[in-house]
Amino acid sequence: MEHGKRGYWEFYADGEGNNVISRGRGRGDGRGGSRRKSERRAAMASRERKQHRRRTIYFLDMDRETGRRSSESRHARMRTRKRILAGITVAALAVACVLIISKIVAPYMAPDAGGGAGSSEPGGMPLGAGATIGSAGGSNSNADLDMTVLVNAWNPLPKDYRPAVITDLMEIVAVSDISVRAAGEVVQPLTDMLNSAEDAGHAGLFVTSGYRNYDEQQRIYKESADKSYVQPPGCSEHQTGLAVDIMKMGVNMESFGDDPASDWLYENSWRYGFIVRYPRDKSDITGISYEPWHFRYVGKEVAKLCYEKNICLEEYAEDK
Ligand SMILES: [Zn+2]
Repeated sequence: MEHGKRGYWEFYADGEGNNVISRGRGRGDGRGGSRRKSERRAAMASRERKQHRRRTIYFLDMDRETGRRSSESRHARMRTRKRILAGITVAALAVACVLIISKIVAPYMAPDAGGGAGSSEPGGMPLGAGATIGSAGGSNSNADLDMTVLVNAWNPLPKDYRPAVITDLMEIVAVSDISVRAAGEVVQPLTDMLNSAEDAGHAGLFVTSGYRNYDEQQRIYKESADKSYVQPPGCSEHQTGLAVDIMKMGVNMESFGDDPASDWLYENSWRYGFIVRYPRDKSDITGISYEPWHFRYVGKEVAKLCYEKNICLEEYAEDK
């Protein structure tokens, strides 16, 4: 196809500065051929020029606009993706830091978390999400059992027993970790007791363990090398939610019984409805060695009786 006869395309700027493709005159024009032919050719060229100009303007404008737009939106998308990725990375790092710190700090916060020798209470074990669970709705709740219920190796709890109300202690009293919970009726007396202890000069007391369910106790029991110091599942009164282990900052388990705070608790816990559940001189009856940190809520009346008569809960149950 001969170029001269077909004309050629040229670019020029229109009034608005848009590049427009136009068909120029063929080199052959005006060089010969009949007038009719050249007129026909000119008319055809003009028509084509108009058509093409319309298409071209449309095409160029679209291309330029969409090109810029898509380019801009592509950059915006990339920026958004980078921001999202950065956000996810920061969040993941924060979670990792919290997990690592909690792993490092937990053993120091809960001296008995490891369940050392002589302890039947490997407290401070994670129990999962806390918060108040509310009414159990089942037959095995504290509504069916009184506060003086005897739980030991010979009197296990049903597997599905749990307190009617379980309360997260984290925002109420000092705790070793966020999973520490207790039965609802224990919360106020426990708070009052710890506040009074602090007023009496025994600051730094905190709760290392409260409610533990059957499965948790089973896991602790399975993982303990020495079974003689751990209650089998169902036999721990932590499952009632009425027992709490209390420790003092900077004092280890072995020394807690010699700390003045321990003496204060022994002399005053009954005023708040608690008893030292495993006294030093009652191991042969309770089956548990002395645990100055383990307090059991039994209500003020029974606690006072046990304190004044110097009897443990097994003896109280027997005399009842
Ligand atoms: Zn305990």
